[in-house]
Amino acid sequence: MTSQQYIDLEDRHGAHNYHPLPVVLSEGRGVYLYDVGGRQYFDFLSAYSAVNQGHCHPRIVRALSEQSSRLTLTSRAFYNDRLGPYEKYLTEYFHFDKVLPMNTGAEAVETAIKICRKWGYEVKGIPHDRARIIVCGQNFHGRTTTIISFSSDPNAKGNFGPYTPGFESVPYGDLDALRSKVSEDPATIAGVLVEPIQGEAGVFVPEDGYIPGVAAACRENNILFVADEIQTGVGRTGALLRVCGDCTCAGHCERQPTYTRPDVLILGKALSGGTYPVSAVLADDAVMNVIRPGQHGSTFGGNPVACAVAMEALEVVRDEKLTQNARRLGRLFRERMQELVDRHPETLRLVRGKGLLNALVINDSPEGDTAWNLCLALAERGLLAKPTHGNIIRFAPPLVISEAELMEACDIIQEAIAHL
Ligand code: PLP
Repeated sequence: MTSQQYIDLEDRHGAHNYHPLPVVLSEGRGVYLYDVGGRQYFDFLSAYSAVNQGHCHPRIVRALSEQSSRLTLTSRAFYNDRLGPYEKYLTEYFHFDKVLPMNTGAEAVETAIKICRKWGYEVKGIPHDRARIIVCGQNFHGRTTTIISFSSDPNAKGNFGPYTPGFESVPYGDLDALRSKVSEDPATIAGVLVEPIQGEAGVFVPEDGYIPGVAAACRENNILFVADEIQTGVGRTGALLRVCGDCTCAGHCERQPTYTRPDVLILGKALSGGTYPVSAVLADDAVMNVIRPGQHGSTFGGNPVACAVAMEALEVVRDEKLTQNARRLGRLFRERMQELVDRHPETLRLVRGKGLLNALVINDSPEGDTAWNLCLALAERGLLAKPTHGNIIRFAPPLVISEAELMEACDIIQEAIAHL
């Protein structure tokens, strides 16, 4: 079959809830993807930062295949020999007492919201049904009805009402706005839900003091600080977690001054290296123990395959020093992109990001087609990236990329921009 025939099949038989670039992929290895014609591309999206460990990492694939030929699913009606070791491993890796395993990012966010509200009623003493959660403008936390209820994106939200109440929004990155919102009626606020960098919104990096400031405002008012690190976590931004700030010690940074410990940490995506849907909510006992049998769960959450895959995926991050690689190469990438911004101010407005989560803002309106056309030109030259919000292109390659590969990719971007 030709690429066009595959595209036609999706068009005819699939819901039109995405607008993909016209490339049909059939294989992936490391930083590369291959289309059905055998053409090689740099993957500069990494499935929205899920494939941090690179495509089809042999160790993760082996873990998947070994576990899936032994035991795939027991449900949580019984114990199994993978979940306990995984929970021990994960909680030690991220320094929390407990984990609640789920599958997708949105499910984990929903889980965090439920934990947060329940803690609000049962521990903090918020009056029945009055718990509020503070969120940020331009947030992206997933696609469920509750989550889109507090989205500010009309496209994500329009005509999906009635919406779930109990969420109030403040502008992202504005600590004064958050402090003033919190001071209104702190006794009814259960949590503040924040992305440490807003990825989907277009890679908005807040000022250095913002996340510590949010955490402090929460601590002072007995409010849970809930960090959604689904996109930023697991090495992507050059720290194991973005809440680690600019600390490089790859996960053992609890005592470092830059570490801001969330009360609830949400992970997904790269937790499995993109091999399998695995997400997790981590918290200490004082918070997590509000959940008791029968109050939350998922048939597939914490299944043996997920456990085996996630453990191996995290081992790979540590063994291959992917966090450190993201940090070092991220700097080089932004340097190269800054040269391009300086050279082509008519096309490019700015570059921003942390580690290997970066964005080029195109000098066009969000309704314009320059970013889309640039992504088509990049694909023609062998690099895949996708615009977000019309005029922003996110660049997030797998963290296994080498310096030579990164420089080659930068040359492709430079060439495509020069010929736009
Ligand atoms: N939260 C953040 C910060 C995300 O970036 C995403 C996905 O892009 C999600 C939540 C939702 O994750 P999923 O698509 O796995 O439901």
